[in-house]
Amino acid sequence: AIEIRGMNKWYGQFHVLRDIDLTVFRGERIVVCGPSGSGKSTLIRCINALEEHQKGSIVVDGTRLTSDLKNIDKIRSEVGMCFQHFNLFPHLTILENCTLAPIHVRKTPKREAIETAMHFLEKVKIPDQAGKYPGQLSGGQQQRVAIARSLCMKPRIMLFDEPTSALDPEMIKEVLDTMIELAEEGMTMICVTHEMGFAQAVANRVIFMADGQIVEQNEPTRFFNNPQSERTKQFLSQII
Ligand code: ATP
Ligand code: MG
Repeated sequence: AIEIRGMNKWYGQFHVLRDIDLTVFRGERIVVCGPSGSGKSTLIRCINALEEHQKGSIVVDGTRLTSDLKNIDKIRSEVGMCFQHFNLFPHLTILENCTLAPIHVRKTPKREAIETAMHFLEKVKIPDQAGKYPGQLSGGQQQRVAIARSLCMKPRIMLFDEPTSALDPEMIKEVLDTMIELAEEGMTMICVTHEMGFAQAVANRVIFMADGQIVEQNEPTRFFNNPQSERTKQFLSQII
């Protein structure tokens, strides 16, 4: 589980996250939405210590995020992350992208790392691309590699930051299908996305952020059909 209490973050003078309280239980699937600049990416980057927070606490599976590098390593090893831009290593094959961290960070024997990588490449339905380079794959395929690469580290929690927003429409579904499958297997997930169909189908909670705060959260049916705050109503009227 993730427990965030009274968390605040500043970029210099700019107060980007204000008094964030959020508990995510094991197996929960959270969708985070909200206008551009509301702090969605910053929030999930704080959860795996890509950004520091200055006040309050973040506890992931019992480990408190502090500046202690040991804790940061422990949390990063449990939390996988996928971004809008897939950040694959262009000079490594798909298979090598997937085995690099397990071999060098986890010290997994090479054969085992390859087996695991092939398992997850099959899971995201592109085992036949293992020997190619990222530049030879479509955007949707590259994003599925990025997801498989994260899964190779056996994370207990997956964070997604707009994983489909850089993709052509026909490739969005294949990535969402992969995420839906992960959700069905019980992965704890926090997804920043404006794919509201995905939110309706998969999320057990939708969180709406504005101006660095969590303005409203609810289970999807209520969130979409009966938003409480004016800010949420205004946002939903623009995107649906
Ligand atoms: P989007 O929907 O456009 O991705 P977001 O909700 O993810 O937006 P963030 O990227 O978290 O928003 O940014 C929140 C605010 O913090 C924005 O005003 C942004 O300009 C600012 N910000 C983000 N990163 C930095 C940084 N490294 N230094 C200073 N300000 C930053
Ligand atoms: Mg963002």
